[in-house]
Amino acid sequence: MRIDKVIETQLHTSRKEMKRLFAKGLVQIDGEIMRNQSFNVDSHLHCLTVDGQVVEWYERYWLMNKPAGYVTANHDKVVPTIFDLFATDDLVAGLYAVGRLDRDTEGLVLVTTNGPLGYQLLHPTKKVDKKYSVRVNARLTEKDVQAFSEGIVFHGGTRCLPAQLLLKSCHDQESEAEVVLSEGKFHQVKKMFLACGKKVTFLKRISFGPLELKTLPVGEYRSLTKHELEALR
Ligand code: URA
Repeated sequence: MRIDKVIETQLHTSRKEMKRLFAKGLVQIDGEIMRNQSFNVDSHLHCLTVDGQVVEWYERYWLMNKPAGYVTANHDKVVPTIFDLFATDDLVAGLYAVGRLDRDTEGLVLVTTNGPLGYQLLHPTKKVDKKYSVRVNARLTEKDVQAFSEGIVFHGGTRCLPAQLLLKSCHDQESEAEVVLSEGKFHQVKKMFLACGKKVTFLKRISFGPLELKTLPVGEYRSLTKHELEALR
C-alpha cells in the first residue's frame, strides 16, 4: 500500500500535515528516512515509524461481484464506480482494482491495497487464467473452438494467445459458452468473438487465477480467505 495512504488511514493525517512529516524526515522505514510519498510499503517486510511511533496496518483483499453499469475506476463524475458499492469510505481508502472489466461486464474483480501483488498478477509473463461466461448472438461451432485454440487475430491484426472456448449451448440466434484466457487485452473477449463474426450480448468473469466467484451475489463483496491469498502469491 502507498505509504501516504497508510499514514492517512492509520493516523487520519491531513495533506498539509503529511507534507510536513515527510519534509521533516519524520517518516521512516526500518530506521531510514523515506521522502517518497508514493513508495509502496509491505506490512510483512517493513517497519514504518512516524515521529518515532510504530505504525501498524494490514493489507486488504476483497473479491467483488461487479454489477453491469458500474465502471472499474477509482473516480468517475458521471457513472457509479465499483468503489461506490463499499459500505463505508474507510473500507475504500487505499484500494484499487486488479485489472478492469468493461462497464457492461459483470463478475469477479479483485480489489486490494497491495499494489505490488496486483502488478505481479497482471504482468503478461505471469499468465493468470481468467474464465468468462459469455452469450453471443449466433451459433458457435467447433470451427470457433478451433480458432480460439489457434489464437484469434483481431480485425486490426493483433494476435491473441491460444485460448479455450468451451461450448455450453448453441442455437442459431444465441449461444452460451465459457472462455479461458491467459492475457488481458482491452475488450479482449468481445473482440475475439467479433473476429469470428459474433457479437457478445452478455459477459461475466467467473474466475481469476485461483479465485472463483461461485455464489457471491451481484453487487456484493467478501474478503479473501487465507487459503485464497496463499494460492494467489
Ligand atoms: N473482455 C472484454 O471484452 N470485456 C471485459 O470486460 C473483459 C474481458
